[in-house]
Amino acid sequence: MSLSFDPDTIPLPVGHFIGGELIPAEGGIEMRRPSDGKSYTDCPVAGPDLIERAVDSAKAALKASNWGGVRPRERTRALQAWADLIEAEAETLARIEALSSTRPVGQLVAGDIAITAEQIRFFAEFADKEGSELAPTDDTSLGMIMSEPYGVVGAITPWNFPVSMAGWKLGPALAAGNAVVLKPSEMTPFSAIYLAQLAVRAGLPAGLINVVLGDGPTSGTALTGHPEIAKVSFTGSTRAGSAIMENVARTGVKPMTLELGGKSPQLVFADADLDRAASAIAGSVTFNAGQACVAGTRLIVEKSVADRLTVAILEKMKAARPGPTWDATTQYSPIISERQRARIDSIVRAAVAAGGECLTGGNSMDHAGYFYEPTLIADVDQANPAIVEEIFGPVLTIQTFETEEEALALSSHPTYGLASGLFTSDLSRTIRFARKLEAGTVWVNRYSRSRDHILPTGGYKRSGIGKDLGREAYLANRRTKSVLISL
Ligand code: NAD
Repeated sequence: MSLSFDPDTIPLPVGHFIGGELIPAEGGIEMRRPSDGKSYTDCPVAGPDLIERAVDSAKAALKASNWGGVRPRERTRALQAWADLIEAEAETLARIEALSSTRPVGQLVAGDIAITAEQIRFFAEFADKEGSELAPTDDTSLGMIMSEPYGVVGAITPWNFPVSMAGWKLGPALAAGNAVVLKPSEMTPFSAIYLAQLAVRAGLPAGLINVVLGDGPTSGTALTGHPEIAKVSFTGSTRAGSAIMENVARTGVKPMTLELGGKSPQLVFADADLDRAASAIAGSVTFNAGQACVAGTRLIVEKSVADRLTVAILEKMKAARPGPTWDATTQYSPIISERQRARIDSIVRAAVAAGGECLTGGNSMDHAGYFYEPTLIADVDQANPAIVEEIFGPVLTIQTFETEEEALALSSHPTYGLASGLFTSDLSRTIRFARKLEAGTVWVNRYSRSRDHILPTGGYKRSGIGKDLGREAYLANRRTKSVLISL
């Protein structure tokens, strides 16, 4: 059966999800579908009262279910049952996701949703394998480093991969024995509600996952500043990350993991497999129309092969077929909103005004919805707006180098250090660059994550603090207590 659907026929869970129940709400922020610009519903905005209710519900669920204190294997089993149900309901979840977001339905079932289920299973397995330690002490005492959950984790996610981002937060927090109050993006909130509904259907205690809808300034601020939120887990822009740090500092101190913006370089040396590099580079800026934190938007290529590589990239950038997210054959996504499309366009125009040459694209697409052409800009220096700004759209810049030192200098960004790509067949150079690149991830001869969720992801510089995925994400949801006993 085709996954394509009529967007006017999809029921959406509009409301907040607290204590295992959908609390209908009306009014709020008008929502428009990125694929055709049509207004379709409002996103309710939770005020401090509703946040209070959600936090109370999380605390009550922890107490009633003893989620943090049950046999850890019970947590594993419950989370695995949830992952199974997510897979079984993948098509319904995909339609809810595709309706509001930029994710084409044809990429969701086997992509984002299958990966999210796998990641929940991955984190579930930590529950009964990671634990406390005995500390080396003299024989008159016993030292223990006890590992414990925090209690209630406050999680906030962005709009670009709504299901996956919710999974990144919920999987490790729940496996580690916490309850969660999650605030998804006001632009794409409904798939998170449906995920939480599936958790309750799968047997997780009601109230363990609460989803509150709303914007950053009202709902996000009330959530991160709530005194009973013991830890904040955030993914979004560096600007919002700073605002959250400020709010948390003002309202009390608590640990935070912040996964923030990026402006990642892709370095290509003349000895690389250029066709492979071209596919990876074009793919990374056209996938989700470049609306990915790790998008490799700065191409830095050895001068002798720059022309050849540019021709190959130009060809591949234009290959992805645009269309509405509810058409199963769509490959190229719309931009999330008219406002974001206008921002992309204004940075591209500023880049050209500052001396950049637009080799392709540079305009909105003549297409219903908020589509923007895949864009390649050459002749940019380090001060060009297209290099400085995280554009969060399908815009690639190209710069050239002649020496390794030049390549390294160009790769370094004053603000961001999220990911980086390196294409070369020289093993020694690979190791040299893997050591020197200032980024939380270095991909070599590829530019994408694998499905081995053990590799953590997170940023250097202002791309963030702490990690999602991997063992580190699980441990970030536990705190340790030192216990010393005199014998
Ligand atoms: P955003 O920062 O505008 O919003 C993200 C979330 O934060 C939303 O839920 C929003 O309501 C909330 N928010 C905004 N201001 C807030 C505040 N003051 N207090 C509390 N919450 C607040 O980001 P976006 O436009 O949704 O997403 C795009 C950004 O996310 C890009 O910068 C991208 O690089 C980043 N991102 C990073 C990663 C990563 O793993 N590092 C992954 C995906 C997206």
